Amino acid sequence: MPADALKCKECSATYPLEARYVCNRCFGPLEVAYAPPTSSAEELKRRIQAGPHTLWRYADFLPLEGPARSALPTGWTPLVKADRLAARLGLRELWVKNETANPTHSFKDRVVSVALARAQELGFQTIACASTGNLANAVAAHSAAAGLPSYVLIPSDLEEQKILATGAYGTNVVAIKGNYDAVNRLCTEIAGEREDWAFVNVNVRPYYAEGSKTLAFEVAEQLGWELPDRVVAPVASGSLFTKIARAFQEWIDCGLLEGEVPHMNGAQALGCSPVAQAFEAGTPVCRPVKPDTIAKSLAIGNPADGPYAVELAQRTCGGIDSVTDDEIRAGIRLLAETTGIFTETAGGVTIATLAKLAARGDIGRDERVVVYITGHGLKTLEAVAPTTGPTATIAANLDAFHGAFDLEENN
Ligand SMILES: [Zn+2]
Repeated sequence: MPADALKCKECSATYPLEARYVCNRCFGPLEVAYAPPTSSAEELKRRIQAGPHTLWRYADFLPLEGPARSALPTGWTPLVKADRLAARLGLRELWVKNETANPTHSFKDRVVSVALARAQELGFQTIACASTGNLANAVAAHSAAAGLPSYVLIPSDLEEQKILATGAYGTNVVAIKGNYDAVNRLCTEIAGEREDWAFVNVNVRPYYAEGSKTLAFEVAEQLGWELPDRVVAPVASGSLFTKIARAFQEWIDCGLLEGEVPHMNGAQALGCSPVAQAFEAGTPVCRPVKPDTIAKSLAIGNPADGPYAVELAQRTCGGIDSVTDDEIRAGIRLLAETTGIFTETAGGVTIATLAKLAARGDIGRDERVVVYITGHGLKTLEAVAPTTGPTATIAANLDAFHGAFDLEENN
């Protein structure tokens, strides 16, 4: 399925596969369009199964000209059957896609792998991004592995863990006194001036966004080439959410999967929920908000793909919900206590939304549900710090231990 062109999502105007992201005619966003596959489903499947255990096994569905390569292998993360969590929520079949297992512990390694590979094909020598934290980690790490200089621009009030982990890779960390939307605006201005820099989520964004499709490809393959009935995933810009559905559709269209795109449920934090608000109001128009939530990696007040996320949720009989910061903390604990997977706040948003859907009876009795856990809990330790200290702090003697724990005698 070779990449064909960049195509405007609004007016369908097409452009060559260059570093460009906005339509000259209508200012709509561009995305990669593919020519119909020339191989049969069987041949595509055979090639995938013979591929590496990284996201490059899906190279036939990614926008690269040459053989895919990256110095920091990414993807093929575990799909974990979460029976204890399912039982707790009254669900029949629940799977957790554990994206914390990527090199920098979030799904952003996927989008950066694809953006960086395409940027190198286009001849860029410097990599940059606007980030809410996870992307900063990934851009710094993958640029370091590729031997390219990088600049990551972040809001200065990000979680300390994310800032320190980013700096470790020897990148230029630029902390901006402003929120993500201000950082993003500045990056767009810099990208206009520095045409020799690839901003992964600005001027090469159409390629970057394609990386999220591998989240769906992997799940389908790991489920034995079958579709889930329902997906619950976080919504920040709305890109990951819409690309997951797009990927399932591509595989249905080329005969690799049978059925329909799953019900798509998006998850937002109440303190930054422009997409959930638009869904509730029944309109695709997302009114920008000023973020105020512990889920900083989802704190995009003016989400670029928000309208498409609303339309997708409507079309698939899914939804977009929002949850409070306390529910987010409870979601982090619930996932950790039932699966052994420790997620950052974004995953807390996703699990809290899943719990809400289950409690509301929105999930059918026989459904197979997949939830996407997009980042690791060590990235946002401060969010759970108030509730996860030592169970007891005692002197180093047996009496103190017995005093702290009222255990039955061991005969
Ligand atoms: Zn257009």
